[in-house]
Amino acid sequence: MTIRTRFAPSPTGYLHVGGARTALFSWLYARKHGGTFILRVEDTDLERSTEKSVNAILEGMTWLGLDYDEGPFFQTHRFDRYNEAIEKLLESGHAYRCNCPKERLDALREEQMAKKIKPRYDRHCYGKTIDPSEPHVVRFLNPDEGVVEVEDLVRGKVVFNNAELDDLIIRRSDGSPTYNLTVVVDDTEMGITHVIRGDDHLNNTPRQINMMKALGLQPPRYAHLPMILGEDGSRLSKRHGAVSVIEYREKGFLPEALINYLVRLGWSHGDQEIFTIDEMIRLFDIKDVNNSAASFDNEKLLWLNQQYLIKDDPARIARLLSHHLGKLGIDPAEGPDLVEVVKAQRERAKTLVELAEISTIFYRDYEAFDEKAAKKNLRPAAREALERCRAELEALHNWTPEAIHHCVVKVAEQLELKLGKVAQPLRVAVTGRAASPSIDVTLYLTGKEATLRRIDRALNYINEREENQ
Ligand code: GLU
Repeated sequence: MTIRTRFAPSPTGYLHVGGARTALFSWLYARKHGGTFILRVEDTDLERSTEKSVNAILEGMTWLGLDYDEGPFFQTHRFDRYNEAIEKLLESGHAYRCNCPKERLDALREEQMAKKIKPRYDRHCYGKTIDPSEPHVVRFLNPDEGVVEVEDLVRGKVVFNNAELDDLIIRRSDGSPTYNLTVVVDDTEMGITHVIRGDDHLNNTPRQINMMKALGLQPPRYAHLPMILGEDGSRLSKRHGAVSVIEYREKGFLPEALINYLVRLGWSHGDQEIFTIDEMIRLFDIKDVNNSAASFDNEKLLWLNQQYLIKDDPARIARLLSHHLGKLGIDPAEGPDLVEVVKAQRERAKTLVELAEISTIFYRDYEAFDEKAAKKNLRPAAREALERCRAELEALHNWTPEAIHHCVVKVAEQLELKLGKVAQPLRVAVTGRAASPSIDVTLYLTGKEATLRRIDRALNYINEREENQ
């Protein structure tokens, strides 16, 4: 059997973390089995679906590398298929027209609620002859006895009583088909073998299976993924920070880090944390997905991102970093080689945004000294070391880390100081802060002209400080 899975987002917003995890698991399952991954856009809710959202979803999937083999199929292009199925259900007596006014349905609902019974349509219109040209909806005649058993690949056997299920509307009065009907038609026509989706759809599964049976169709297998919770234990939502996949890109995350993070939300392989895509494909199995809710842990995502920043090809990181430097108004062409900057800095940052922020010093002068660092290191006692360094560095013809290192060592020796007593004031002078890569690399990347200019600035600062004392 060729495995066919699908991702079926409703384009009513961006691609969020939960949707991306669903897409990833469906994608992995297809890739693992040499199957087919299909993208289907469920855009039948005309009021809430937008083209912008379709594009945001496609952009998110492309960024994450979740490529699809078929689609995107749009449900709004498939109304004929849905109507065909609805007509078939009407003809075979598995569906009926209903023209109950809203007031009646509201009253019925209130009455049932008052009696503490589950609100359910009472089949008032079943058996009535309703003129198809008059306004009406079509309802599916759900079996009222027996059970629907779902052998869920994640949750195990789940049993639903038909008595609990409503005669749901499958075509609205405006003629548009509803979600459960469209999914039934599409999942079967598209030959989906495994429906992998969020467990918020678990309750729809028996309704869909009943409709498939009424149409004489074979239901696929189902796997309902546990939901994702925020750190406070409530369902993950926007208030937990970035939940849109593209927002993670803007916050400086690498797609492979986010993918690696997402795969671990509900799935594990021993205590392994870092997986290449190939490993994920090889090791992933839907049967190993945990059926309890997964918690989103931002710290862990940051940790993973740093792991990838450190281990990925520096040239690639440099390309991505250039975008973030651009957002800070920096043109990387006007400074040191970005690949060298990445190599020097990447252990010091958890995101590309942080990496960009700590790297601006190599492209433009810092705005102000970090107060604490300046107070501690830019004191009159440091003046001589800075002056001597300035003179040594100015005389350098070869601006290389080795030559710079040699200058700093020489000054420390002359003044009989520990290297740090020279390097640290120099670091604060040149970067404005107390932390940077090693002093030779820092100065090398900053460049000679900027280094000398900033030492002068630090010397002025020391003088002013002395005068004000
Ligand atoms: N369109 C549905 C959603 O975005 C998913 C439907 C399904 O996977 O069956 O929640």
